Amino acid sequence: LPDLATGTKFGAYCLTEPDAGSDANSGKTKAKLSEDGKHYIINGQKMWISNAGFAEIFIVFAKIDDDKNITGFIVERDTEGLTFGEEEHKLGIRSSSTRQVFFNDMKVPVENLLGERNNGFKIALNSLNVGRIKLAAANLDGQRRILAHATKYANERKQFGVAISTFGAIRKKIAEMATGIFVSEAGSYRAAKDVQDKIDELVAGGMNHQEAELKGVEEFAVEASILKVFVSDLTQNTADEGIQIYGGMGFSADAPMEAAWRDARIGRIYEGTNEINRLLAVGMLIKKTMKGQLDLLKPAMAVGKELMGIPSFDVPDYSELLSEEKAIIANLKKVFLMVSGAALQKYMMEMEKQQHLLLNASEILNQIYMAESAILRAEKHFSADSVEVAMAQLNLYKAVEKIIAAAKEGIISFAEGDEQRMMLSGLRRFTKYTNQPNIIALTEKIAAHYVEKGHY
Ligand SMILES: Cc1cc2nc3c(=O)[nH]c(=O)nc-3n(C[C@H](O)[C@H](O)[C@H](O)COP(=O)(O)OP(=O)(O)OC[C@H]3O[C@@H](n4cnc5c(N)ncnc54)[C@H](O)[C@@H]3O)c2cc1C
Repeated sequence: LPDLATGTKFGAYCLTEPDAGSDANSGKTKAKLSEDGKHYIINGQKMWISNAGFAEIFIVFAKIDDDKNITGFIVERDTEGLTFGEEEHKLGIRSSSTRQVFFNDMKVPVENLLGERNNGFKIALNSLNVGRIKLAAANLDGQRRILAHATKYANERKQFGVAISTFGAIRKKIAEMATGIFVSEAGSYRAAKDVQDKIDELVAGGMNHQEAELKGVEEFAVEASILKVFVSDLTQNTADEGIQIYGGMGFSADAPMEAAWRDARIGRIYEGTNEINRLLAVGMLIKKTMKGQLDLLKPAMAVGKELMGIPSFDVPDYSELLSEEKAIIANLKKVFLMVSGAALQKYMMEMEKQQHLLLNASEILNQIYMAESAILRAEKHFSADSVEVAMAQLNLYKAVEKIIAAAKEGIISFAEGDEQRMMLSGLRRFTKYTNQPNIIALTEKIAAHYVEKGHY
């Protein structure tokens, strides 16, 4: 462990197999206890293993005999029976080693069993939860670098006698890229702090540190999935707009944007594909509700009652910083409860099969979490006239538009007649601004700041 922690040795995580990707617990790699009871004999194959070319320690997941679940094993590189495929030829992250790993009667000492038998899937999932928050943080740095390159290029490249950074079309892209970074940071810091606070609370309550870390991360698995999806999708868009700002040079492998775009692509595939993470985030919320760990039903019923009532025509006092935005976030949560509550009532145990609808619900959920994170951060650290407040406002406006589209599609799919009309009118009510922000002015304010600054 000290060698891994100090980077003297590298590790690899061997879960995926040719026939077991998203369905990770279905692997065929088998472990069998040797006759003398001293070793497990492992046979099988793993695929897409990062670091395989130079890692010293491999965490290998395999099923012992006919166990239902996988078990984790610690395997050292020089173990007999451990061999590797050639380096994969990849679209991106070409400096990362990715290989197949084969186990042929590989003898692993019994004391190298990681944790408990049958408990490997839990270990694998827990490391994925941490991995998802880390993936967001790593992607964030990619976004910052893309913005720095793109702004520099836009300030230097001249067309029609002026720098292209003076054109509104380019400024809009720069403003949106910077806003994406601000929002991604806000969500990442929020989730990381929540996890840390939970761990501290559990340790203070007498739990041992290792158990507390596992439980602390598990508690925020929904947030980890939200972050992974939101930030990796955004990084791809940021890289794509980076290429666009570079024009033809963006398409050239001699300029930095081409690699940024290729490298961004993997973020949407590993640590659980973005589809799987979207389905997971909503699925976990539904499961928590079913188990009684989370009460979504009462608030969903309250929203139902509100929909039947007459809306208030009072004009609220929104003079406090971001108070209207916070009121909108509260209403967007009602949209989530309205759509997911009604869908759940309609499909009940069949809900899991309604993937299109679940993806819509996840879009609403993701946008709310990230927009709220940005607003809370802007409110806490920045003044009313700051560029950060403008970014939180711009992001919320865009989030509202995405939520309206996702919610509308969902409502129309499962509600008819009066119920549909009532929910669509609720959607309009819950996504309404009292003081509509001037989006073009906000965008220009953000662009002016970053074009002058030259980086995030
Ligand atoms: C460069 C690279 C590095 C990697 N590093 C590692 C590593 O170090 N260790 C490791 O164990 N793995 C690693 N992986 C594997 C990676 O985690 C998997 O590729 C990923 O989980 C997807 O599995 P799959 O490729 O089998 O795709 P599949 O599971 O076959 O998915 C194909 C498509 O179907 C969709 N899909 C699958 N199931 C469902 C479902 N139930 N509902 C809806 N849609 C679904 C997916 O979203 C995807 O779009 C790496 C992969 C790559 C490319």
